Amino acid sequence: MVDRIAILGGGTGGAVLANDLADRLAAEIDAGDVEVTLVNDGPDHVYKPVWLYVPFGQREPADGRRPLRELVDSRIDLVVDRVTGIDTGARELALRDAAGSLAYDYLAVATGSTLAPAEIPGLEAGGHDYYSESGAVALREELLSMTEGHLVLSVVGTPHMCPAAPLEFVFMADDWFRERGLREDVEITYTYPINRVHGNANIAEWARPLMDERDVGVETFFNAEAVDPDAGTIASMEGTELDYDLLVGVPPHRGVDVVAEADLGDRGWVDVDKHTLEAERAEGVYAIGDAATTGVPKAGSVAHYQAGVVARRIASEVRGRPATATYDGKTLCFIETGMDAASFVEFDYENPPSPAPPSEKLHWSKLAYNEAYWLTARGLL
Ligand SMILES: Cc1cc2nc3c(=O)[nH]c(=O)nc-3n(C[C@H](O)[C@H](O)[C@H](O)COP(=O)(O)OP(=O)(O)OC[C@H]3O[C@@H](n4cnc5c(N)ncnc54)[C@H](O)[C@@H]3O)c2cc1C
Repeated sequence: MVDRIAILGGGTGGAVLANDLADRLAAEIDAGDVEVTLVNDGPDHVYKPVWLYVPFGQREPADGRRPLRELVDSRIDLVVDRVTGIDTGARELALRDAAGSLAYDYLAVATGSTLAPAEIPGLEAGGHDYYSESGAVALREELLSMTEGHLVLSVVGTPHMCPAAPLEFVFMADDWFRERGLREDVEITYTYPINRVHGNANIAEWARPLMDERDVGVETFFNAEAVDPDAGTIASMEGTELDYDLLVGVPPHRGVDVVAEADLGDRGWVDVDKHTLEAERAEGVYAIGDAATTGVPKAGSVAHYQAGVVARRIASEVRGRPATATYDGKTLCFIETGMDAASFVEFDYENPPSPAPPSEKLHWSKLAYNEAYWLTARGLL
């Protein structure tokens, strides 16, 4: 009997998992005892962290795209198609374009996040973002033409991808306008929904004095309710209204519809055991990366570490052994604190983060990590 492993989503988690399985189960795949299929709804792998640099003219969207076929081991069957249904009872995936369905014994859901700006009236028309490729390109034009006025960065919804990226954006914008001699004419305000500037108390405590030093205005307890594009205002549920000339919104996030329809969790995320990453509502299903509700940040590093755990668990199960690998919450993240300095955090379920003092060396480490990513995705690092 052939063991069929399906991976749904060819982003960071899906690609790393596919390559790890190809390596770990090479003998079984070559013997025809195991089949690994990766389904992604486009031919390219997209590395989203590049988008942070696009508005400042430091990267092009193409720097974050590579053909999946080049990244994924030839032992993996790559299917470029959209999954339109997950039947966890019959263990089958329905595909949009292909005839028939894809049967699996083990499924790893790695479908990532989608943006839901329409949940906030006026946000799509009045705001810009760098959480999408097209958004980052449009924002670049806005930033280039901005010589004065009020830039508001509003974290509209949590959880969102890369919890540090909004802090990074305002620190980089501060530096960028300073370098261009415009900072005195551009006011920068950052809003966050809870009573501090970041979801994690240690990171918030570290970031707040930096924001004060850099003259970044802060509005906490700001749960954005509506944007009025004509008036150029954003209003919060708490009754605060801010005028803006350029609004950069981190939109509400959701998982994907097909996961929501399969009833694997809320808002298209998959409820999982935070150590084993097994879905709580279905047998034979794992979830990794943004799609999995584990309480850790929605970050590529998390997807990477979780992919390794799931690869080891599935390999054990295929070989008839108990699956013992577990995820300990490991997360690491470089945090840009300007155009040429960064901090770094590493933490897990037991150990909270303690941000490193910002340095140029850490900034270059972040840029080097971004370049080395393509080796990571191939499973070489
Ligand atoms: C601006 C920005 C900066 C960031 N910076 C960092 C950083 O510095 N460090 C860090 O660790 N993380 C960072 N992240 C977060 C990181 O990019 C994500 O957490 C990571 O991509 C999650 O990986 P994933 O595999 O879960 O999902 P993704 O990489 O999003 O991949 C999901 C894949 O599934 C596919 N898919 C979805 N639905 C279907 C379907 N129905 N059928 C077929 N395919 C489907 C998608 O097309 C996509 O290819 C950043 C994100 C952004 C937006």
